[in-house]
Amino acid sequence: KKKEWAKLKDEPTVTSEGDHVELAANIGTPQDVDGVLNNGGEGVGLYRTEFLYMGKSQLPTEEEQFDSYSTVLKQMGDKPVVVRTLDIGGDKELDYLDLPDEMNPFLGYRAIRLCLERDDIFRVQLRALLRASVHGNLKIMFPMIATLEEFRQAKAILDEEKEKLINEGKEVSETIEVGMMVEIPATAVIARQFAKEVDFFSIGTNDLIQYTMAADRMNERVSYLYQPYNPAILNLINNVIEAAHAEGKWAGMCGEMAGDEIAIPILLSLGLDEFSMSATSILPARTQIRTLSKEDWISYKDELLSKGTSDEVVDFVKEKTQLR
Ligand code: PEP
Ligand code: MG
Repeated sequence: KKKEWAKLKDEPTVTSEGDHVELAANIGTPQDVDGVLNNGGEGVGLYRTEFLYMGKSQLPTEEEQFDSYSTVLKQMGDKPVVVRTLDIGGDKELDYLDLPDEMNPFLGYRAIRLCLERDDIFRVQLRALLRASVHGNLKIMFPMIATLEEFRQAKAILDEEKEKLINEGKEVSETIEVGMMVEIPATAVIARQFAKEVDFFSIGTNDLIQYTMAADRMNERVSYLYQPYNPAILNLINNVIEAAHAEGKWAGMCGEMAGDEIAIPILLSLGLDEFSMSATSILPARTQIRTLSKEDWISYKDELLSKGTSDEVVDFVKEKTQLR
């Protein structure tokens, strides 16, 4: 099987009729980029920047961050690199920030909530990203957006830093797309309103599932409720993709679900444009997608979305793909 996959390393990701979708990778550090390229990744769909901030005694400097971001961008060349701004808090702690203990860390002070309040931290990261933007095809994405105000505020801070850099005579790319993660159900529900203001969406199913099902993604006792194929999740995803397309934007997914064998045909059916997964899942996913007819899967869409349970969805997909 490995040999069969390797042959597809430099091939495009196309369905049986030749429709292209993008297969990108999730990374955490510049060292991960080799693995992306060796596995035929067409881009980086999620660069989790938390690692830059973790395991040290102070915040990373603008220069340190600039080095990491430019290294990744240069190595990826023309290929898109979606960098997610700091998603700290919740379960990911930073000793030097001295964050208060919370009753419900996953529902608390984290990610963009923290960055908008501690904009001193946020601005350093945005400056580093903006300066690095001239070295490749950068897209910036904000995590854990819940309201349109948050997106607007984050974007305004980004624009301010860009303006400042230009006034300082620094070069900044003029073509940086700015998007958001859809991982809070509130944003999936009114995706249409968000789609007018963002350049793209990336659906973060790891969190979207836990918030939609009210089931902690780490809690074994309730893991039976953590259902990627639950029709509620599929309908939310569909809503996001439809909203994006209605506004001429693209929609990707960077949660675990994007690389899942059962989920891939469903996501193709819903029209997902970009799938971002661990690098080692890319070639198996490409192999699978080449066997799937997008036309057929689009014709199954209404039936998939009207299923009642997760099991019914899975049975349907298995029947249609002969994945048994
Ligand atoms: C997600 O929530 O799906 C996601 C990709 O982000 P993380 O797993 O880092 O929360
Ligand atoms: Mg998340």
